[in-house]
Amino acid sequence: MPYMTLDEFKRKYGHEIGGIWVPRVTAITDIVAKPGLLKYYAQQESFEAAQIQLRSSAHWGSLTHKTIEEILKGNKPDVHPRILPSIEAFLRWKSQYQVIVPNPEKNIEMMIFDPDNLYAGRTDALVEIDGELGILDIKTGTGIWDEYYLQTAAYLNAYNKMVVSEEQAKKRWILRVEQYEECVICGAKKRTKSGKEVVKGGNPLCSHKFGKEIGIFEFKELKGYEDDIEAFLSAKELWEWYNREFLKQIKNYPKFK
Ligand SMILES: [Zn+2]
Repeated sequence: MPYMTLDEFKRKYGHEIGGIWVPRVTAITDIVAKPGLLKYYAQQESFEAAQIQLRSSAHWGSLTHKTIEEILKGNKPDVHPRILPSIEAFLRWKSQYQVIVPNPEKNIEMMIFDPDNLYAGRTDALVEIDGELGILDIKTGTGIWDEYYLQTAAYLNAYNKMVVSEEQAKKRWILRVEQYEECVICGAKKRTKSGKEVVKGGNPLCSHKFGKEIGIFEFKELKGYEDDIEAFLSAKELWEWYNREFLKQIKNYPKFK
C-alpha cells in the first residue's frame, strides 16, 4: 500500500458519525478480488494508462449514476448525449415495474450506519418495487460482481437497524445499465472508454460491422441475505486486520479503544 497519513486514511476509508469514526462499506468490500479489473489491467499498455482510462470511465459512470438518481427523485435533469443510451435503458426498466421512491430527499443517497458492527455507507436508493421495499444499487459496469452481494447486505442490515419503528426493507436489487455498439454479423460488443475503443466477444476473424449504440439494463434481485451479511462481517474483520496499524491509531474508532 502506498504511504498515507492517518488523516488521509480516515478520509479515504471512513466516515465520522456523531464523534466516532467508522469504515465505509465500499472500503471493506474492496478487499474482495475483482477478476474483471485484474484482467483489465493486464490488457493495458501500462499501469498509468490503465489508471487514466479508469478515471475517465468512472466519470461517465458517475454522471449516469447522478442522472438516474435525479430522475428517481422526480426531477427532469438534462441528459448528456454521451450517456443517453444508458438513460433510455433505465427509463425502459422503470416503465416495466411499479417503482416508487418514498421520501426521495431522504431515501436517495442515504447515509446508513450500523452502531453495533461499526460501519457506515451510502445506499443509492431505498425504493418500493412492485409493492416491496428494498435497497436498490445502481451499477454502470459490465457485470454484476460478487462484492455487490456484500455491499447490499451491509446496507440492508444497517438500514433496518436505523428504522426500528418504520417498515423494514426486505429486498436487495442491482440495476445495471450500460451501452455499447454491437456487430450485426458476429455479435461482438464495442465499448468506448475515454476515446479508446474496446471490442469484446464475437468472432475475432470477423470484419465487424457495428450498428448504432444501444443501451441495455440488467435487473437482478440478490438472494441469500443471511449468508451475505455473515460474509460481509467476516470481510470487515479481515479488513481490520489488514489495516490494523492505522486503526490502532484512530482514537475515535470504538473497536480499538
Ligand atoms: Zn463482427
